[in-house]
Amino acid sequence: MIGVVTPIDLRSDTVTKPDEEMRRAMAAAEVGDDVLDHDPTMAALEQRVAGLLGVEAALWVPSGSMGNLIALFLHLARGDRFLAPLGAHVLDAELGTAAWLAGGMPHALPSLTPEAVVAAGGGESPYYGLRTTLLSLENTHNASGGTVTSVAEHEALVAAARSIGLAVHLDGARLWNASVALGVPLSSLTAGVDTVQVCLSKALGAPVGSVVAGSASFVVEARRVRKMLGGGVRQGGVLAAAGLVALDRIPRLADDHAHASELAAGLRSLGWDVAEPATNIVLASVPDLDKTLLSLGEAGVLASPMSGKVRFVTHGDVSSSDVAEVLRRVREGV
Ligand SMILES: *Cc1c(COP(=O)(O)O)cnc(C)c1O
Repeated sequence: MIGVVTPIDLRSDTVTKPDEEMRRAMAAAEVGDDVLDHDPTMAALEQRVAGLLGVEAALWVPSGSMGNLIALFLHLARGDRFLAPLGAHVLDAELGTAAWLAGGMPHALPSLTPEAVVAAGGGESPYYGLRTTLLSLENTHNASGGTVTSVAEHEALVAAARSIGLAVHLDGARLWNASVALGVPLSSLTAGVDTVQVCLSKALGAPVGSVVAGSASFVVEARRVRKMLGGGVRQGGVLAAAGLVALDRIPRLADDHAHASELAAGLRSLGWDVAEPATNIVLASVPDLDKTLLSLGEAGVLASPMSGKVRFVTHGDVSSSDVAEVLRRVREGV
């Protein structure tokens, strides 16, 4: 190989690095001991996120997986069945913790519709039948390519769950992207849910952190479970400060979505089979996934496998000219 190309990293929106502004905010953060009492910057972040999501209270957690686990742990009794869309992060990407720590019996819905929710979870069952108690939603839906659930669809799903007595959790790792793509407030996408989890460390660019949110009494219990799982941190304000800067960047996600569209259009013009992205995730169907990922890597384009396809994710460290460069590398090298 002649010369060394700097790879352009489209594996995930988690690869963003904290910039100067974020690092300065972290260095200057006012801190306390968040396990003993409340770290003031943590408290400020949690209050701001609760406000954005339109819920009573919120709790910072080190990862989205822990946020989802805490919610499922508190919703489910051992052996309770929960419904989630096929490919959901809670089903496939959390090492089975929904079952082996939260005690849930997972049930994937291949097509997430209100009718499917009622059909899977409703009806009388005999005393020896499974109990279904929870619907776990995901917006945007990662495995289907960052697809968005609209407010109307969300409301219909929540109503269906309620009609058969289910609680509702929302994995909103990328709920910010859904809100920007639809042009609606975050709170309209959490309407009617009991609990919600959002990630600060994906497209918003914080180095660490998610928030799990719901009622004030949920957060009291969630704080105990977080401690049980080893997720209580001391001078967490250093991390929360990055989260506060991250929240200022929600509108910037529109750029990521535009870049994803540019990438999809460019790949299509090179003959690739690519669905139009709804947000910042582009999925491409290829005949040989491993071979394509390898040759992309050799050409200096990092992507990842997802749902049997190539997944490219745009994010804050990728510009429009990076997208043009990706397309140039694909044209010449793949
Ligand atoms: C990334 C992600 C999470 C949580 O991920 P962590 O890596 O644990 O922070 C949860 N749900 C979805 C849909 C995700 O994409």
